[in-house]
Amino acid sequence: MSHKYVYEFSEGDGSMRNLLGGKGANLAEMTGLGMPVPEGFCITTEACTRYYADGEQIGDDIRDEIITYIGKLEEMTGKKFGDPENPLLVSVRSGSRASMPGMMDTILNLGMNEAVVEAFAQKTGNPRFVYDSYRRFIQMYSDVVMEVGKAYFEELIDEMKERKGVKNDLELDADDLKQLAGEFKEEYKSKIGADFPSDPIEQLFGAIKAVFRSWDNPRAVYYRRLNDIPSDWGTAVNVQSMVFGNLGDTSGTGVAFSRNPATGDRGLYGEFLMNAQGEDVVAGIRTPLTIDQLKAQNPAVYDEFQAIVDKLEDHYRDMQDMEFTIEEGKLYMLQTRNGKRTAAAAFKIACDLVDEGQISPEQAVKMIDPKQIDALLHPQFDPDELAAAVPIGKGLPASPGAASGKVVFTAEHAAEQGKLGEDVVLVRLETTPEDIEGMHYAKGILTARGGMTSHAAVVARGMGTCCVSGLGEITFGPKSFSLGGETYHEGDWISLDGSTGNVYGEAIKTVPAEIGGYFGRIMEWADEFRTMKVRTNADTPHDAAQAREFGAEGIGLCRTEHMFFEPDRIAAIREMIVSKTVEQREAALAKLLPMQRGDFEGIYEAMEGFPVTIRLLDPPLHEFLPHDEEDIVALAGEMSISVDELHAVIDSLHEFNPMMGHRGCRLDVTFPEIGAMQTRAIIEAAINVQAKHPEWDLVPEIMIPLVGEVKELAYVKKIVVDTADAIIAESGVDLKYLVGTMIEIPRAALTADEIAKDAEFFSFGTNDLTQMTFGFSRDDAGKFLDAYYEKKIYENDPFARLDQTGVGKLVELAVDLGKQTRPDIKLGICGEHGGDPSSIEFCQKVGLNYVSCSPFRVPIARLAAAQSALNNK
Ligand code: PEP
Ligand code: MG
Repeated sequence: MSHKYVYEFSEGDGSMRNLLGGKGANLAEMTGLGMPVPEGFCITTEACTRYYADGEQIGDDIRDEIITYIGKLEEMTGKKFGDPENPLLVSVRSGSRASMPGMMDTILNLGMNEAVVEAFAQKTGNPRFVYDSYRRFIQMYSDVVMEVGKAYFEELIDEMKERKGVKNDLELDADDLKQLAGEFKEEYKSKIGADFPSDPIEQLFGAIKAVFRSWDNPRAVYYRRLNDIPSDWGTAVNVQSMVFGNLGDTSGTGVAFSRNPATGDRGLYGEFLMNAQGEDVVAGIRTPLTIDQLKAQNPAVYDEFQAIVDKLEDHYRDMQDMEFTIEEGKLYMLQTRNGKRTAAAAFKIACDLVDEGQISPEQAVKMIDPKQIDALLHPQFDPDELAAAVPIGKGLPASPGAASGKVVFTAEHAAEQGKLGEDVVLVRLETTPEDIEGMHYAKGILTARGGMTSHAAVVARGMGTCCVSGLGEITFGPKSFSLGGETYHEGDWISLDGSTGNVYGEAIKTVPAEIGGYFGRIMEWADEFRTMKVRTNADTPHDAAQAREFGAEGIGLCRTEHMFFEPDRIAAIREMIVSKTVEQREAALAKLLPMQRGDFEGIYEAMEGFPVTIRLLDPPLHEFLPHDEEDIVALAGEMSISVDELHAVIDSLHEFNPMMGHRGCRLDVTFPEIGAMQTRAIIEAAINVQAKHPEWDLVPEIMIPLVGEVKELAYVKKIVVDTADAIIAESGVDLKYLVGTMIEIPRAALTADEIAKDAEFFSFGTNDLTQMTFGFSRDDAGKFLDAYYEKKIYENDPFARLDQTGVGKLVELAVDLGKQTRPDIKLGICGEHGGDPSSIEFCQKVGLNYVSCSPFRVPIARLAAAQSALNNK
């Protein structure tokens, strides 16, 4: 039998998500549960992959299969494609494995043509509904399939409303809509140069191809990169017989969540519109009613819907996000999926589901996306400043948090300014999927239109970005908006409170978020299931203390050079660099010693006895010297040397490729006094702090960077050991310490069995290891990586997400070789990947003992590590 690419909903089930996509699998599952789902079929994700493999063509075998299933759908519904007497009309919708809200396009009412419309208008006795459906179809098809754009059609509607002297679409009558449909078709012909297709089969294949194509549109590609969704998953296409929410006053359509997606509170939460189609609710063109009002208007439908919601929650054991339509009083379910929610809601819902006996703590830990924690840790307004501020308007509290920034009016501008590090608030009539990049860079989003389920609200919640939507009083001028009697221009500061919907015409200070009790409960469970430790990369006592608050169990990387940039020490380090003799260098280092010792004492104190890994000086020395002539002259004066002499030193330190030059352990090979001074500071600080805290068992870990050859490690290690042992012997204290290395040069990974003879621990420096394995600079890759994403050479930034195929292979090899020599070798990671959930899963798989990341990513790493442990039990 040939490969099967199409499934009726009744042939599938919820377990077939990879093949049918989330939407298709859930429609199949609901069909199996006996819920009122309009009949239809699903074209698989494999068909999408084939479409691309075949050079963006639908193969004849797949085409035939789809036509067979249209035949089956005609039989099931008793309707026929293109039959004026009893036309089959369908919706065509995308649905990938992971939900990608707003990223894909939908076409409704497919199957309409002049003959169908005329007969259908007569048969239903409701020509207004029929022409409304028809003009919507032409509009959507033109926009989505032929990419004509929506704007022209919106203009034609506005012109028609103006001619008729009406404000609302609903006030246009059947003749108006019929005329509009004609105008739309003319518009189509003028843009495309051909008649609007009247053959439903041609319409259908146009729509299916458009869905496949939309998998690769720029905003979908961007969303996938943001969410680690591989491009080879593809999207399924759902073809479903239409039910109509715009059939009159007993029809309607809505979206609802089984719990409040902002707070997590239990109870139906949603919006609906009578006499409308789905897009009207989410597009924010008409302001919808709340779901409670449905109870008052139509208690029978409401009760039926509530019963379905309860059954779905019981079934999926998670909060559901549903779409429904009421056609002449009869309820239909069009979609269900696990609902997107704020970070706060995610933690509450997970705890509530455990308390309700629906899920286990393990499942609760697994159901939270670690990246969402970012949003919980985001700032809130300073309460005093907030109390003094007066709102200029109030919209819907679409996505919580606080944001202050300069007004921008386009997504491009938001992205451009955001990339420069500016705080901006994006102010729009409404947002569309094209705006995704700008929304990502904006600190906050304010829209004039749209409800709690509008594009702006859903996307902002997913991103954890503060958003106020539906503030209808806003009026727009050229690069300005007016609200509360004031006009705000591009660049003016405003503030948004995404938890109340308040908007302020000024900057308001923000303060760090407080993490609530649900977060603590989940993290406690996470810590129980976790097998890897989570450490932090911190260079100051302040950062170390912050990381402890977030649950760090030690420091995996203390970059000592960061301390050298402090104003009181840069003079001493520069003196050390320009020294001509060992004696001069030692004298300069002696000035640095007490400062370094003090830093390390602070860090040990902040870490309360947890392990601390301190790395010897790493960067090339020229980084510490000035480069402007003015600064050079000033420094020469300070150091009592001639400007020429200083120039000569700076010139001598010039390197063509400093990241591969005189840095890391190479500094200690040439200037052993540097390593000796740093070792002294590390050991003396440990002896002092240990004396103050006999209850702690301090074992400093001294880390030698950028090793590629065991002999250079052995050479530097001897400096460290000789210095440390002499100090310990002199002090009479029994202090233990470890000496280890970073694995950040491919040669170190390849010879890890040799290296492990002299290293008591390995810490994978995957920033350098990635740079050196790929052979491109971590500082310059940004300039060309976009071209690599566009051309599908890379899907992700390898500096953010560990390249498991290449760099990962080196890590795995080094782990194996290291363990062969030293079975109990301590293994960790301290590159940026230590805070990235997918890279953390890799660390779990290869058997690292800990991951180390920046303080604000510690909670993310704790949760990701727990999930990795549970997934790899
Ligand atoms: C690394 O290379 O991964 C690392 C942690 O060191 P740095 O980023 O300081 O080079
Ligand atoms: Mg490095």
